[in-house]
Amino acid sequence: MGKPVLRIIIPCYNEEEVLPITAPMFLEKLTALMEAGKISRRSKILFIDDGSRDKTWEIIQALARQDSHFMGIKQSRNRGHQNAVLAGLMESKDHCDITISIDCDGQDDINAMDEMVDAYLDGCEIVYGVRSKRDTDTFFKRFTAQSFYKVLRSMGVDSVYNHADYRLVSSRVLQEFANFKEVNLFLRGMFPLVGFKSTSVYYERHERIAGESHYPLRKMLALAFDGITSLSVKPLHLITTLGGIIAAFSFIGVIWTLIVALCGNTVPGWASMTCIICFIGGVQLICLGVIGAYVGKIFLEVKQRPRYIISDRTEDRL
Ligand code: UDP
Ligand code: MG
Repeated sequence: MGKPVLRIIIPCYNEEEVLPITAPMFLEKLTALMEAGKISRRSKILFIDDGSRDKTWEIIQALARQDSHFMGIKQSRNRGHQNAVLAGLMESKDHCDITISIDCDGQDDINAMDEMVDAYLDGCEIVYGVRSKRDTDTFFKRFTAQSFYKVLRSMGVDSVYNHADYRLVSSRVLQEFANFKEVNLFLRGMFPLVGFKSTSVYYERHERIAGESHYPLRKMLALAFDGITSLSVKPLHLITTLGGIIAAFSFIGVIWTLIVALCGNTVPGWASMTCIICFIGGVQLICLGVIGAYVGKIFLEVKQRPRYIISDRTEDRL
């Protein structure tokens, strides 16, 4: 077996500030891995421009002209981080043996790549990059992120704790993964479903080198909700249970009302009736909302629209 060809997959969205700083770091790492004889000389770094509105694509094109190890593809519009990573993975699966996806902002420690490649050489097909601590995060980010994993777990979604999208995946896994046709993507919850031998490597996550996070609370909540409703039907069961409990309480309430009415004491009670009506109304709306979320997903899935569209690419010179 020859040395494996590696592709580093890097999604970029409005990253003109940080890309010129981190791109040379990625190249240095790739060169070091090649020189250590762990990976093939044909290994590459693939940037996916996720429809940036700033100079990101121009920077990627310039990088590709500068060094033949850099290459880039551009999505026709902004589709979000998950779709950008997917585009990179699907574009690479037939041209390499292993892929490592990583953010372009320098937050994930590139030195963990050595260990990832070692794990692959030892026979693992998926290697999850897991954050060992979250010291650099604010208390709020840490708390919301940790609750996120707990809720996912309690909903029966099998995802690796504290793993974002820094991950080594072999092309063998990607060939199988290509058969997962869903449009609603939650990659970190989907790879465990593919199976194969996997392991984790631990690294410390740094602060962003430059630029700003594109994941404000609103997007984080959306990702969490997407993760749960894409991979678990437990919320639907919970609704049924909730409905059952409330129905039982209502039944007791009805009996109580009848007894009170039979005793001839019916004048007071307007307040409690109003409360009950409001409460039931609220619960029904929540339940409808959750069911609606699933119906919405079915709506998106049945259309089978393309999950990414590439409008431009740099010349491949290797
Ligand atoms: N990103 C993307 N499309 C988007 C938002 C983000 O491709 O719509 C990329 C971004 O360029 C970065 C990665 O996804 O490489 C993670 O984003 P960010 O650092 O903003 O998120 P955080 O690390 O704060 O969760
Ligand atoms: Mg980041």
